[in-house]
Amino acid sequence: MVAYGSAMASVLVVEDDANVRTALIRELSVRSHVVRSVGTAMDALREVTQSPPDVVVLDLGLPDLDGAEVLKMLRGISDVPVIIATARDDEPEIVRLLNAGADDYLIKPFSIEHLSARLAAVLRRSVRSGPTAELSVGGLHIDLDRREATLDGAPLELTRREFDLLAYLAARPGRVVARRELLAEVWRQAYGDDQTIDVHLSWLRRKLGETAAAPRYLHTVRGVGVRLAEPDPRS
Ligand code: CA
Repeated sequence: MVAYGSAMASVLVVEDDANVRTALIRELSVRSHVVRSVGTAMDALREVTQSPPDVVVLDLGLPDLDGAEVLKMLRGISDVPVIIATARDDEPEIVRLLNAGADDYLIKPFSIEHLSARLAAVLRRSVRSGPTAELSVGGLHIDLDRREATLDGAPLELTRREFDLLAYLAARPGRVVARRELLAEVWRQAYGDDQTIDVHLSWLRRKLGETAAAPRYLHTVRGVGVRLAEPDPRS
């Protein structure tokens, strides 16, 4: 566990359901976060402008504005990390929002442990977002200048594309990266078929000594994309 994961953060909860809001405030406060909450999109935008939080947890079903609309307006005024909370298990919508600038998402109902893990990952990323030549996720170390990667101290023999793919994902630990984003950012293509990415992911997975059925670092989120995360120490 990275130390910052348990550090105090200021969290803005945007949620119109008073019961959910109360529960979130209580649980996040217990975990030493400073929590503020609002029940409408307009109040959220005002809060972010007046007193920017470290992270926003944004319910998509708000009374005044559609979630996607709120996200767009938020992105117009701030780079604050946003975790969307949605009751709809709707993959196209989730992909659209990730592409529109959401950092992560949770499907309601979610556990507080799940939210805490997402918060920690998002906060780690925003701490690391400065220019850095080295990335570390668990036992994985990547030297961007030398283009070398090691896993638990052992060098990884990667092709250029595999290295780029690994480095891109490792720079965003815990975040689900959509295939379209990988295609655009790693392959530099606007269009392409998912198979190209899947094939490279499977090669990379083999070099990391894991399988899709028993992932450690690389987790495929069906229909959405892939997430690279520190392995669960219990597994
Ligand atoms: Ca709601």
